[in-house]
Amino acid sequence: MAEILSHIKLNMDEGLLKKLCDYQETFWLNPDYGKNSLSTSEVNKETVFRANRLLERFAPYLETVFPETKVSKGIIESPIQEIQNIKEYLSIPGRVLIKRDDLMPVSGSIKSRGGIYEVLVFAEKLAAQNGFNPDTDDYRDLAQDRFKKIFGQWKIEVASTGNLGLSVGLMASTLGFKARVHMSHDATQWKINKLRQNGVEVVIYNDNFSNSVTMARAASEKDDHSYFVDDEGSKILFAGYATAGERVKQQISDLGIEVSKEKPLVVYLPAGVGGSPSGVAFGLKIQFGDSVLPIFVEPTHMPSVLLGMASGLNHDISVYDVGIDGKTAADGLAVGRPSLIAGKYMRNKLFGIATVSDEHMFAFQGMLKKLENIEAEPSAVVGIRGLLASQKIKTIPSQATHMIWSTGGSMVPRATMDQYERNALNYFARWQA
Ligand SMILES: *Cc1c(COP(=O)(O)O)cnc(C)c1O
Repeated sequence: MAEILSHIKLNMDEGLLKKLCDYQETFWLNPDYGKNSLSTSEVNKETVFRANRLLERFAPYLETVFPETKVSKGIIESPIQEIQNIKEYLSIPGRVLIKRDDLMPVSGSIKSRGGIYEVLVFAEKLAAQNGFNPDTDDYRDLAQDRFKKIFGQWKIEVASTGNLGLSVGLMASTLGFKARVHMSHDATQWKINKLRQNGVEVVIYNDNFSNSVTMARAASEKDDHSYFVDDEGSKILFAGYATAGERVKQQISDLGIEVSKEKPLVVYLPAGVGGSPSGVAFGLKIQFGDSVLPIFVEPTHMPSVLLGMASGLNHDISVYDVGIDGKTAADGLAVGRPSLIAGKYMRNKLFGIATVSDEHMFAFQGMLKKLENIEAEPSAVVGIRGLLASQKIKTIPSQATHMIWSTGGSMVPRATMDQYERNALNYFARWQA
Protein backbone atom coordinates (compact mmCIF):
# COMPACT_ATOMS: atom_id res chain seq x y z
CA MET A 1 0.00 0.00 0.00
CA ALA A 2 1.23 3.46 -0.85
CA GLU A 3 2.53 5.64 1.90
CA ILE A 4 0.14 8.27 3.16
CA LEU A 5 1.55 11.75 3.51
CA SER A 6 2.08 12.52 7.17
CA HIS A 7 0.44 15.97 7.18
CA ILE A 8 -2.95 14.49 6.38
CA LYS A 9 -5.05 13.13 9.21
CA LEU A 10 -7.43 10.76 7.58
CA ASN A 11 -10.64 10.05 9.37
CA MET A 12 -11.81 7.13 7.28
CA ASP A 13 -12.15 3.39 7.36
CA GLU A 14 -8.72 1.82 6.90
CA GLY A 15 -10.04 -1.16 4.97
CA LEU A 16 -11.66 1.18 2.46
CA LEU A 17 -8.51 3.27 2.13
CA LYS A 18 -6.45 0.16 1.54
CA LYS A 19 -8.86 -0.99 -1.18
CA LEU A 20 -8.62 2.39 -2.88
CA CYS A 21 -4.82 2.39 -2.69
CA ASP A 22 -4.73 -1.15 -4.08
CA TYR A 23 -6.92 -0.05 -7.03
CA GLN A 24 -9.59 -2.63 -6.22
CA GLU A 25 -13.13 -2.05 -7.42
CA THR A 26 -15.31 -1.16 -4.48
CA PHE A 27 -18.67 0.27 -3.48
CA TRP A 28 -18.92 2.95 -0.81
CA LEU A 29 -22.31 3.35 0.83
CA ASN A 30 -22.73 6.89 2.08
CA PRO A 31 -23.40 6.68 5.85
CA ASP A 32 -24.98 10.17 5.81
CA TYR A 33 -27.45 9.39 3.02
CA GLY A 34 -30.95 10.63 3.83
CA LYS A 35 -29.96 12.30 7.09
CA ASN A 36 -31.41 15.69 7.84
CA SER A 37 -28.87 18.35 7.18
CA LEU A 38 -28.70 21.75 8.78
CA SER A 39 -26.38 23.21 6.19
CA THR A 40 -28.28 25.09 3.54
CA SER A 41 -26.58 25.32 0.19
CA GLU A 42 -26.53 28.47 -1.90
CA VAL A 43 -28.14 26.49 -4.69
CA ASN A 44 -31.73 25.53 -3.97
CA LYS A 45 -35.08 24.71 -5.54
CA GLU A 46 -35.63 28.37 -6.44
CA THR A 47 -32.20 28.82 -8.13
CA VAL A 48 -32.70 25.70 -10.19
CA PHE A 49 -36.23 26.74 -11.16
CA ARG A 50 -34.87 30.10 -12.34
CA ALA A 51 -32.14 28.34 -14.32
CA ASN A 52 -34.75 26.35 -16.23
CA ARG A 53 -36.66 29.53 -17.04
CA LEU A 54 -33.53 31.29 -18.30
CA LEU A 55 -32.81 28.41 -20.68
CA GLU A 56 -36.40 28.68 -21.95
CA ARG A 57 -35.93 32.41 -22.58
CA PHE A 58 -32.83 31.67 -24.64
CA ALA A 59 -34.45 28.81 -26.57
CA PRO A 60 -35.44 30.95 -29.61
CA TYR A 61 -31.83 32.19 -29.81
CA LEU A 62 -30.32 28.73 -29.40
CA GLU A 63 -32.59 27.37 -32.09
CA THR A 64 -31.26 30.05 -34.45
CA VAL A 65 -27.55 29.51 -33.79
CA PHE A 66 -27.58 25.72 -33.30
CA PRO A 67 -29.86 24.31 -36.03
CA GLU A 68 -29.61 20.81 -34.49
CA THR A 69 -31.80 22.12 -31.64
CA LYS A 70 -34.68 22.98 -34.01
CA VAL A 71 -36.41 19.67 -33.27
CA SER A 72 -36.53 20.50 -29.57
CA LYS A 73 -37.33 24.21 -30.20
CA GLY A 74 -34.03 25.35 -28.77
CA ILE A 75 -34.16 23.27 -25.61
CA ILE A 76 -30.84 21.46 -25.22
CA GLU A 77 -31.83 18.01 -23.97
CA SER A 78 -31.21 14.33 -24.61
CA PRO A 79 -33.56 11.36 -24.85
CA ILE A 80 -34.04 8.50 -22.39
CA GLN A 81 -34.34 5.02 -23.85
CA GLU A 82 -34.85 1.50 -22.59
CA ILE A 83 -31.90 -0.91 -22.97
CA GLN A 84 -33.68 -4.24 -22.94
CA ASN A 85 -30.78 -6.32 -24.31
CA ILE A 86 -28.46 -5.18 -21.55
CA LYS A 87 -31.17 -5.73 -18.96
CA GLU A 88 -31.58 -9.32 -20.13
CA TYR A 89 -27.87 -9.95 -20.61
CA LEU A 90 -27.10 -8.79 -17.06
CA SER A 91 -30.29 -10.36 -15.60
CA ILE A 92 -31.48 -7.15 -13.97
CA PRO A 93 -35.01 -7.61 -12.53
CA GLY A 94 -36.18 -3.97 -12.89
CA ARG A 95 -36.32 -1.75 -15.97
CA VAL A 96 -33.01 -0.48 -17.32
CA LEU A 97 -32.84 2.90 -19.03
CA ILE A 98 -30.07 4.96 -20.52
CA LYS A 99 -29.95 8.75 -20.49
CA ARG A 100 -28.33 9.72 -23.77
CA ASP A 101 -26.24 12.75 -22.84
CA ASP A 102 -23.76 11.41 -25.39
CA LEU A 103 -26.28 12.93 -27.84
CA MET A 104 -26.53 16.33 -26.15
CA PRO A 105 -26.42 19.12 -28.74
CA VAL A 106 -23.41 21.48 -28.96
CA SER A 107 -20.78 19.58 -26.92
CA GLY A 108 -22.04 15.99 -27.30
CA SER A 109 -21.80 15.58 -23.55
CA ILE A 110 -23.34 16.26 -20.14
CA LYS A 111 -21.25 19.47 -20.12
CA SER A 112 -23.77 21.16 -22.43
CA ARG A 113 -26.03 21.44 -19.38
CA GLY A 114 -23.80 23.52 -17.11
CA GLY A 115 -21.35 25.15 -19.51
CA ILE A 116 -23.91 26.66 -21.86
CA TYR A 117 -26.04 27.83 -18.95
CA GLU A 118 -23.20 29.72 -17.27
CA VAL A 119 -22.20 31.47 -20.50
CA LEU A 120 -25.83 32.47 -21.11
CA VAL A 121 -26.23 33.87 -17.59
CA PHE A 122 -23.24 36.12 -18.19
CA ALA A 123 -24.41 37.08 -21.69
CA GLU A 124 -27.89 38.00 -20.46
CA LYS A 125 -26.42 40.19 -17.75
CA LEU A 126 -24.13 42.01 -20.19
CA ALA A 127 -26.92 42.42 -22.71
CA ALA A 128 -29.24 43.84 -20.03
CA GLN A 129 -26.56 46.36 -19.05
CA ASN A 130 -26.46 47.42 -22.70
CA GLY A 131 -30.09 48.14 -23.46
CA PHE A 132 -31.53 44.65 -23.88
CA ASN A 133 -34.78 44.10 -22.03
CA PRO A 134 -35.10 40.43 -20.98
CA ASP A 135 -38.83 40.82 -20.33
CA THR A 136 -39.85 42.28 -23.67
CA ASP A 137 -37.05 41.92 -26.25
CA ASP A 138 -36.53 39.06 -28.68
CA TYR A 139 -33.62 36.83 -27.67
CA ARG A 140 -32.86 36.16 -31.34
CA ASP A 141 -31.64 39.78 -31.48
CA LEU A 142 -28.62 38.66 -29.45
CA ALA A 143 -27.21 37.20 -32.65
CA GLN A 144 -26.95 40.72 -34.11
CA ASP A 145 -23.63 42.46 -34.58
CA ARG A 146 -24.34 45.13 -31.97
CA PHE A 147 -24.45 42.47 -29.25
CA LYS A 148 -21.58 40.48 -30.72
CA LYS A 149 -19.51 43.68 -30.41
CA ILE A 150 -20.44 44.03 -26.75
CA PHE A 151 -19.69 40.38 -26.01
CA GLY A 152 -16.45 40.64 -28.00
CA GLN A 153 -15.02 42.97 -25.36
CA TRP A 154 -14.97 40.05 -22.95
CA LYS A 155 -13.04 36.84 -22.77
CA ILE A 156 -14.63 33.74 -21.31
CA GLU A 157 -12.16 31.26 -19.87
CA VAL A 158 -12.46 27.75 -18.53
CA ALA A 159 -10.19 24.91 -17.51
CA SER A 160 -11.37 21.56 -18.74
CA THR A 161 -10.43 17.95 -19.35
CA GLY A 162 -12.14 18.48 -22.71
CA ASN A 163 -15.92 18.42 -22.77
CA LEU A 164 -16.55 21.45 -20.58
CA GLY A 165 -14.12 23.30 -22.84
CA LEU A 166 -16.19 22.33 -25.87
CA SER A 167 -19.40 23.42 -24.23
CA VAL A 168 -18.17 26.76 -22.87
CA GLY A 169 -15.84 27.47 -25.80
CA LEU A 170 -18.42 26.82 -28.52
CA MET A 171 -21.23 28.72 -26.75
CA ALA A 172 -18.96 31.66 -25.96
CA SER A 173 -17.49 31.95 -29.45
CA THR A 174 -20.95 31.63 -31.02
CA LEU A 175 -22.17 34.62 -29.00
CA GLY A 176 -19.11 36.60 -30.09
CA PHE A 177 -17.04 36.37 -26.90
CA LYS A 178 -13.33 35.71 -27.04
CA ALA A 179 -12.85 32.26 -25.59
CA ARG A 180 -9.86 30.56 -24.03
CA VAL A 181 -9.79 26.97 -22.83
CA HIS A 182 -7.05 25.75 -20.50
CA MET A 183 -6.32 22.05 -20.72
CA SER A 184 -4.17 19.54 -18.86
CA HIS A 185 -1.45 17.35 -20.37
CA ASP A 186 -3.94 14.53 -21.10
CA ALA A 187 -6.20 16.65 -23.35
CA THR A 188 -7.59 14.72 -26.32
CA GLN A 189 -6.32 15.92 -29.70
CA TRP A 190 -9.65 15.98 -31.51
CA LYS A 191 -11.16 18.16 -28.78
CA ILE A 192 -8.27 20.62 -29.12
CA ASN A 193 -8.68 20.69 -32.91
CA LYS A 194 -12.43 21.19 -32.75
CA LEU A 195 -12.01 24.17 -30.41
CA ARG A 196 -9.30 25.79 -32.54
CA GLN A 197 -11.38 25.34 -35.68
CA ASN A 198 -14.08 27.33 -33.94
CA GLY A 199 -11.79 30.22 -33.09
CA VAL A 200 -11.24 29.21 -29.48
CA GLU A 201 -7.77 29.73 -28.02
CA VAL A 202 -6.43 26.58 -26.37
CA VAL A 203 -3.66 26.57 -23.77
CA ILE A 204 -2.17 23.24 -22.75
CA TYR A 205 -0.31 22.81 -19.48
CA ASN A 206 2.27 20.15 -18.88
CA ASP A 207 0.48 19.31 -15.64
CA ASN A 208 -2.53 17.47 -14.24
CA PHE A 209 -6.07 18.81 -14.35
CA SER A 210 -6.31 20.14 -10.79
CA ASN A 211 -3.14 22.20 -11.17
CA SER A 212 -4.28 23.41 -14.59
CA VAL A 213 -7.46 24.82 -13.02
CA THR A 214 -5.38 26.76 -10.49
CA MET A 215 -3.18 28.23 -13.23
CA ALA A 216 -6.15 29.05 -15.44
CA ARG A 217 -7.97 30.81 -12.61
CA ALA A 218 -4.87 32.90 -11.87
CA ALA A 219 -4.51 33.84 -15.56
CA SER A 220 -8.14 34.95 -15.70
CA GLU A 221 -7.88 37.00 -12.51
CA LYS A 222 -5.17 39.14 -14.10
CA ASP A 223 -7.51 40.32 -16.84
CA ASP A 224 -10.44 42.48 -15.74
CA HIS A 225 -12.36 41.67 -18.93
CA SER A 226 -12.11 37.97 -18.35
CA TYR A 227 -14.91 35.82 -16.99
CA PHE A 228 -13.85 32.48 -15.51
CA VAL A 229 -16.11 29.43 -15.51
CA ASP A 230 -14.85 27.55 -12.48
CA ASP A 231 -15.24 23.80 -12.84
CA GLU A 232 -14.15 23.34 -9.24
CA GLY A 233 -16.65 25.57 -7.54
CA SER A 234 -19.11 27.47 -9.71
CA LYS A 235 -22.63 27.47 -8.30
CA ILE A 236 -23.98 28.74 -11.61
CA LEU A 237 -22.52 25.74 -13.41
CA PHE A 238 -24.01 23.52 -10.72
CA ALA A 239 -27.48 25.04 -11.14
CA GLY A 240 -27.19 24.51 -14.91
CA TYR A 241 -26.57 20.80 -14.43
CA ALA A 242 -29.47 20.64 -11.99
CA THR A 243 -31.92 21.78 -14.69
CA ALA A 244 -31.88 18.14 -15.81
CA GLY A 245 -34.23 17.33 -12.91
CA GLU A 246 -37.35 18.97 -14.36
CA ARG A 247 -36.73 17.47 -17.78
CA VAL A 248 -36.10 13.94 -16.51
CA LYS A 249 -39.23 14.12 -14.35
CA GLN A 250 -41.25 14.90 -17.49
CA GLN A 251 -39.50 12.26 -19.60
CA ILE A 252 -40.03 9.54 -17.00
CA SER A 253 -43.67 10.47 -16.75
CA ASP A 254 -44.00 10.46 -20.58
CA LEU A 255 -42.57 6.93 -20.60
CA GLY A 256 -45.30 5.90 -18.17
CA ILE A 257 -42.77 4.85 -15.55
CA GLU A 258 -43.93 4.99 -11.98
CA VAL A 259 -41.33 6.17 -9.48
CA SER A 260 -41.92 5.87 -5.74
CA LYS A 261 -40.06 5.02 -2.56
CA GLU A 262 -40.91 1.36 -3.15
CA LYS A 263 -40.00 1.59 -6.84
CA PRO A 264 -37.12 4.06 -6.79
CA LEU A 265 -35.18 5.44 -9.72
CA VAL A 266 -31.50 4.51 -9.26
CA VAL A 267 -29.27 6.78 -11.33
CA TYR A 268 -25.64 5.99 -12.18
CA LEU A 269 -23.47 9.01 -12.97
CA PRO A 270 -19.77 9.08 -13.90
CA ALA A 271 -17.86 11.54 -11.71
CA GLY A 272 -14.67 13.48 -12.39
CA VAL A 273 -14.46 16.63 -10.29
CA GLY A 274 -18.00 15.72 -9.18
CA GLY A 275 -19.66 18.91 -10.41
CA SER A 276 -21.87 17.65 -13.20
CA PRO A 277 -23.08 14.45 -11.49
CA SER A 278 -23.74 16.39 -8.27
CA GLY A 279 -25.68 19.07 -10.10
CA VAL A 280 -27.76 16.48 -11.93
CA ALA A 281 -28.32 14.50 -8.71
CA PHE A 282 -29.33 17.69 -6.92
CA GLY A 283 -31.88 18.49 -9.62
CA LEU A 284 -33.26 14.95 -9.49
CA LYS A 285 -33.56 15.13 -5.70
CA ILE A 286 -35.64 18.31 -6.02
CA GLN A 287 -38.04 16.48 -8.33
CA PHE A 288 -38.11 12.94 -6.95
CA GLY A 289 -37.03 13.36 -3.30
CA ASP A 290 -36.54 10.03 -1.52
CA SER A 291 -37.58 8.14 -4.64
CA VAL A 292 -34.32 8.75 -6.47
CA LEU A 293 -31.03 7.13 -5.41
CA PRO A 294 -28.02 8.79 -7.05
CA ILE A 295 -24.85 6.71 -7.36
CA PHE A 296 -21.55 8.01 -8.75
CA VAL A 297 -18.95 5.92 -10.53
CA GLU A 298 -15.22 6.75 -10.60
CA PRO A 299 -12.11 5.07 -12.01
CA THR A 300 -10.18 2.92 -9.51
CA HIS A 301 -7.15 5.09 -10.28
CA MET A 302 -9.05 8.37 -9.71
CA PRO A 303 -11.51 7.91 -6.83
CA SER A 304 -11.33 11.59 -5.93
CA VAL A 305 -14.94 12.27 -4.91
CA LEU A 306 -15.03 9.02 -2.95
CA LEU A 307 -11.84 9.90 -1.09
CA GLY A 308 -13.09 13.44 -0.44
CA MET A 309 -16.49 12.35 0.84
CA ALA A 310 -15.39 9.28 2.83
CA SER A 311 -12.66 11.26 4.59
CA GLY A 312 -14.84 14.36 4.97
CA LEU A 313 -11.96 16.42 3.56
CA ASN A 314 -13.67 17.01 0.21
CA HIS A 315 -11.61 19.50 -1.82
CA ASP A 316 -8.80 19.43 0.76
CA ILE A 317 -7.55 16.03 -0.33
CA SER A 318 -6.41 14.68 -3.67
CA VAL A 319 -5.80 11.07 -4.71
CA TYR A 320 -2.10 11.91 -5.10
CA ASP A 321 -1.94 12.71 -1.35
CA VAL A 322 -2.51 9.04 -0.52
CA GLY A 323 -0.22 7.74 -3.25
CA ILE A 324 -2.90 6.86 -5.81
CA ASP A 325 -1.33 7.37 -9.26
CA GLY A 326 -4.25 8.89 -11.18
CA LYS A 327 -3.47 6.82 -14.27
CA THR A 328 -6.68 6.23 -16.17
CA ALA A 329 -7.81 6.41 -19.79
CA ALA A 330 -11.12 7.93 -18.66
CA ASP A 331 -10.25 11.47 -19.73
CA GLY A 332 -13.47 13.12 -18.53
CA LEU A 333 -13.01 11.51 -15.12
CA ALA A 334 -9.26 12.01 -14.74
CA VAL A 335 -9.46 14.49 -11.91
CA GLY A 336 -7.46 13.99 -8.73
CA ARG A 337 -9.03 16.60 -6.50
CA PRO A 338 -12.81 16.88 -6.09
CA SER A 339 -14.87 20.03 -6.55
CA LEU A 340 -15.16 22.66 -3.81
CA ILE A 341 -18.91 22.15 -3.48
CA ALA A 342 -19.85 18.67 -4.71
CA GLY A 343 -19.02 16.80 -1.50
CA LYS A 344 -20.75 19.38 0.62
CA TYR A 345 -23.96 19.50 -1.42
CA MET A 346 -24.06 15.73 -1.81
CA ARG A 347 -23.37 14.95 1.85
CA ASN A 348 -26.84 13.53 2.56
CA LYS A 349 -28.07 13.18 -1.04
CA LEU A 350 -25.62 10.76 -2.59
CA PHE A 351 -26.50 7.11 -2.05
CA GLY A 352 -23.04 5.75 -2.78
CA ILE A 353 -20.02 5.59 -5.07
CA ALA A 354 -18.75 2.62 -7.10
CA THR A 355 -15.27 2.43 -8.58
CA VAL A 356 -14.43 0.82 -11.91
CA SER A 357 -11.21 -0.44 -13.51
CA ASP A 358 -10.24 0.83 -16.96
CA GLU A 359 -10.50 -2.76 -18.26
CA HIS A 360 -14.14 -2.97 -17.18
CA MET A 361 -14.84 0.52 -18.51
CA PHE A 362 -13.67 -0.60 -21.96
CA ALA A 363 -15.65 -3.83 -21.65
CA PHE A 364 -18.83 -1.85 -20.87
CA GLN A 365 -18.19 0.40 -23.85
CA GLY A 366 -18.00 -2.76 -25.97
CA MET A 367 -21.14 -4.15 -24.33
CA LEU A 368 -23.12 -1.01 -25.14
CA LYS A 369 -21.92 -1.07 -28.74
CA LYS A 370 -22.46 -4.78 -29.29
CA LEU A 371 -25.81 -5.25 -27.52
CA GLU A 372 -27.46 -1.87 -28.04
CA ASN A 373 -25.48 -0.29 -30.89
CA ILE A 374 -24.87 2.78 -28.75
CA GLU A 375 -21.58 4.61 -29.24
CA ALA A 376 -20.20 6.48 -26.26
CA GLU A 377 -16.86 7.70 -24.94
CA PRO A 378 -15.11 5.32 -22.53
CA SER A 379 -15.75 7.68 -19.58
CA ALA A 380 -19.42 7.82 -20.46
CA VAL A 381 -20.28 4.16 -19.90
CA VAL A 382 -19.05 3.49 -16.38
CA GLY A 383 -22.59 3.68 -15.02
CA ILE A 384 -22.89 0.00 -15.96
CA ARG A 385 -20.43 -0.78 -13.17
CA GLY A 386 -22.75 1.03 -10.73
CA LEU A 387 -25.69 -1.01 -12.01
CA LEU A 388 -23.83 -4.27 -11.37
CA ALA A 389 -22.64 -3.15 -7.94
CA SER A 390 -26.14 -2.06 -6.88
CA GLN A 391 -27.52 -5.57 -7.41
CA LYS A 392 -25.75 -6.58 -4.22
CA ILE A 393 -27.14 -3.72 -2.14
CA LYS A 394 -30.03 -5.05 -0.05
CA THR A 395 -31.62 -1.65 0.56
CA ILE A 396 -32.30 -1.19 -3.17
CA PRO A 397 -35.66 -2.81 -4.00
CA SER A 398 -35.62 -5.38 -6.80
CA GLN A 399 -38.39 -3.56 -8.66
CA ALA A 400 -36.28 -0.38 -8.89
CA THR A 401 -35.85 1.33 -12.26
CA HIS A 402 -32.20 1.86 -13.20
CA MET A 403 -30.86 4.68 -15.31
CA ILE A 404 -27.34 4.67 -16.71
CA TRP A 405 -26.32 8.25 -17.42
CA SER A 406 -24.24 8.10 -20.61
CA THR A 407 -22.24 11.31 -20.50
CA GLY A 408 -20.53 11.86 -23.83
CA GLY A 409 -19.72 10.61 -27.29
CA SER A 410 -21.50 12.01 -30.32
CA MET A 411 -18.75 14.49 -31.14
CA VAL A 412 -15.97 11.89 -31.21
CA PRO A 413 -14.62 11.80 -34.79
CA ARG A 414 -15.45 8.61 -36.71
CA ALA A 415 -11.85 7.36 -36.91
CA THR A 416 -11.28 7.85 -33.18
CA MET A 417 -14.57 6.12 -32.37
CA ASP A 418 -13.64 3.17 -34.61
CA GLN A 419 -10.37 2.85 -32.72
CA TYR A 420 -12.15 3.07 -29.36
CA GLU A 421 -14.60 0.41 -30.43
CA ARG A 422 -12.10 -2.11 -31.74
CA ASN A 423 -10.41 -1.88 -28.36
CA ALA A 424 -13.70 -1.97 -26.46
CA LEU A 425 -15.07 -5.00 -28.31
CA ASN A 426 -11.87 -6.90 -27.47
CA TYR A 427 -12.28 -6.06 -23.81
CA PHE A 428 -15.94 -7.08 -23.92
CA ALA A 429 -15.04 -10.43 -25.49
CA ARG A 430 -12.49 -11.01 -22.72
CA TRP A 431 -15.01 -9.94 -20.07
CA GLN A 432 -17.53 -12.46 -21.38
CA ALA A 433 -14.96 -15.29 -21.35
C1 LIG B 1 -16.94 15.88 -17.31
C2 LIG B 1 -17.42 14.55 -17.59
C3 LIG B 1 -17.88 13.73 -16.58
C4 LIG B 1 -17.85 14.07 -15.12
O1 LIG B 1 -18.16 15.38 -14.75
P1 LIG B 1 -17.48 16.13 -13.53
O2 LIG B 1 -18.22 17.39 -13.41
O3 LIG B 1 -16.04 16.34 -13.86
O4 LIG B 1 -17.63 15.23 -12.35
C5 LIG B 1 -18.32 12.47 -16.95
N1 LIG B 1 -18.30 12.06 -18.21
C6 LIG B 1 -17.88 12.82 -19.22
C7 LIG B 1 -17.89 12.29 -20.62
C8 LIG B 1 -17.44 14.10 -18.94
O5 LIG B 1 -17.00 14.87 -19.95
